[in-house]
Amino acid sequence: MTYPHLLAPLDLGHLSLPNRVLMGSMHTGLEDRARDFDKLAAYFAERARGGVGLIVTGGFAPSIEGWLAPFAGRLSMPWHVARHRKVTRAVHAEGGRICLQILHAGRYGYHPLSVAPSAIKSPITPFKPRALGARGIARTIEDFVNCARKAQDAGYDGVEVMGSEGYLINQFLVERSNQRSDNWGGSVEKRQRFPVEIVRRMRAAVGPGFLIIYRLSMLDLVEAGQSWPEIVALAKKIESAGASLLNTGIGWHEARVPTIVTSVPRAAFTWVTRRLKGEVTLPLITTNRINMPEIAERVLAAGDADMVSMARPLLADPHWVRKASEDRSDDINTCIACNQACLDHVFENKRASCLVNPRACHETELVVGPAGVRKRIAVVGAGPAGLSCATTLAERGHAVSLFEQAAQIGGQFNMAKRIPGKEEFAETLRYYARRIDQLKLDLRLSTMATAVSLQGFDDVVLATGVTPRSITIPGSEDANVLSYIDVLRDNAAVGPRVAIIGAGGIGFDVAEFLVERAPSPTTDIARWAREWGVDTTLTQRAGLAIPAPEAPLRQIWLLQRSPGKPGKRLNRTTGWVHRATLKAKHVTMLGGVAYERIDEQGLHVRIDDEPHLLAVDTIVVCAGQEPNRGLQAELVSAGIKTHLIGGADVAAELDAKRAIEQGMRLANAI
Ligand code: FAD
Ligand code: NAP
Ligand code: SF4
Repeated sequence: MTYPHLLAPLDLGHLSLPNRVLMGSMHTGLEDRARDFDKLAAYFAERARGGVGLIVTGGFAPSIEGWLAPFAGRLSMPWHVARHRKVTRAVHAEGGRICLQILHAGRYGYHPLSVAPSAIKSPITPFKPRALGARGIARTIEDFVNCARKAQDAGYDGVEVMGSEGYLINQFLVERSNQRSDNWGGSVEKRQRFPVEIVRRMRAAVGPGFLIIYRLSMLDLVEAGQSWPEIVALAKKIESAGASLLNTGIGWHEARVPTIVTSVPRAAFTWVTRRLKGEVTLPLITTNRINMPEIAERVLAAGDADMVSMARPLLADPHWVRKASEDRSDDINTCIACNQACLDHVFENKRASCLVNPRACHETELVVGPAGVRKRIAVVGAGPAGLSCATTLAERGHAVSLFEQAAQIGGQFNMAKRIPGKEEFAETLRYYARRIDQLKLDLRLSTMATAVSLQGFDDVVLATGVTPRSITIPGSEDANVLSYIDVLRDNAAVGPRVAIIGAGGIGFDVAEFLVERAPSPTTDIARWAREWGVDTTLTQRAGLAIPAPEAPLRQIWLLQRSPGKPGKRLNRTTGWVHRATLKAKHVTMLGGVAYERIDEQGLHVRIDDEPHLLAVDTIVVCAGQEPNRGLQAELVSAGIKTHLIGGADVAAELDAKRAIEQGMRLANAI
């Protein structure tokens, strides 16, 4: 067996888990309305069918006060139970096991009814919470217990008590958010009473044959967070109070250290869980940036934990565990930790899905079935859109030829994967290469498709991507003016002082590429932790050290014409990491810039109507793109049925999420 530790059963007394994989809690947006529970049940059932050891649902509030947002999912009333039975029955019918996560948002509640230990607003929500009175605290503890009882009624195998990420329980634990002087604050012991009482009373209410997972914040990563001795003391009390498993929580949501984005090294925090080994006897679950069986096996074999928790990797591939158990790790559609379709959607109040697997959370709606009529179809371009479309067409039984003018598949992803901290993007290309092999797809590399070579196909799908926009100012034809393609694909020489024209996603990526020294910090946990200020000795409170970023490799100016600071339009949950990275590397980011001319002195610009000279050696243009669909007119006039997807369709605001989903949806409709 290739992954003996990962695939070993875990005996929990009344229940034995078949392997060491926990599907971690993740909000999907299907939790909030009764009418979505059939979809939620199908989503979990597919993961259970894929062999995951234990599932934890997204967070459900134990009361209205505990809502994350108005009308968010809640399990507190008798009539809530029936909808949850749909979920538990569907999972159990597939032989799976599932726990309900109980999440009280406390001051992270995005609504005016939020409560907290003290009336202190969080830096990431607009609402100031009301401080709970002593009676309110007693009622809140009873709400947790009531929710666990209802979960038991609904057929769950247990609950997870959300005690980390800065939610209510975490807020009780530190002076930063708990300034009470009664029995629930004023000393560590009193602050810790709240979670201990919850677990103790919950165990008494649900009896021994029901799992209570406690998610323990092991690294707060916020100022005045818990010290390591406090965390160990709490873990011991939670064990005595009757918990069955301890899960790891890393970082409050308001922390300014990234914890799950793609630039965080794989398994970057399992060392924290390991420190708790020997302090308690409960099985420990570790988490964050574990996405492939090799990594999970290494973590478990090293003794860092007894189980691994993965949430996003099971969105990306519901059959992750089955593939690992059949020694088919290469077949896994890997989560690239981009957050673009999962967390970003949740923060925008949209249903979660997955960039590399658009079926996630749409299992009942996006069903890929056999084609009615088998056709001969040409897909032109093997970027994300073409790869997704061609493989889905072949899965449905069509005869597909995939044309790619380059010598390799991947399109722009071949540039993306070179950006420090985006190495994961290579996994998507490995996955598609494998699918192409398995489906015996007719892949024609180094072949530029033309209107002539496309004669004879029933349908042609143009996935030919984009061409970069150039700029036209005096000097823009000079040799020191490069496009991002010259830099990222063709390794053009770049001087020590660089101006980047255009501060969209690609401008930011090029800046990171040019300031970072190889190898990428993402490959080295200790170096990454030093740069971001994570104290791996755990001697500092909250695990925070003073960040020590390495000196930048080049001096960079990152420019845009629109007013305001660059980077405002980057993705919701990852943009701040890119902005902070470049700030730490002393990149000058300027908005409201008018480009005038380029000469041997550098780039001449106007800012606030004042002329400035940026004395740079190289100018890199990252000014967006235009669709590349020159073939369309010829094909249409030749009477060939032609479809456009990805950048060839619309270049503005194109990303791989749209490209892959559009490719799959078109393939499903032909
Ligand atoms: P492309 O990827 O451009 O693929 C088009 C393909 O068609 C190319 O391989 C081309 O060679 C081929 N082709 C063109 N004409 C022909 C022809 N006549 N015959 C044969 N082949 C042809 N997106 C994200 O979502 N998240 C990110 O973090 C992200 N980071 C990025 C970082 C960088 C540095 C870059 C450059 C892009 C990034 N993107 C990111 C954007 C993402 O890569 C694109 O949105 C995506 O690749 C578009 O897919 P596509 O298939 O439409 O086009
Ligand atoms: P973009 O996000 O549209 O940014 C283009 C930049 O060029 C903007 O800063 C724009 O700002 C500037 N610009 C536009 N026209 C210009 C002109 N004529 N002259 C000078 N400047 C001009 O495009 P991109 O950065 O090329 O990225 C392409 C796509 O890839 C994006 O849509 C993005 O979603 C995706 N991507 C995503 C990520 C990610 O992390 N999610 C990373 C990389 C790429 P001004 O008009 O204000 O100057
Ligand atoms: Fe992973 Fe990105 Fe999919 Fe989210 S959207 S599950 S981060 S690949």
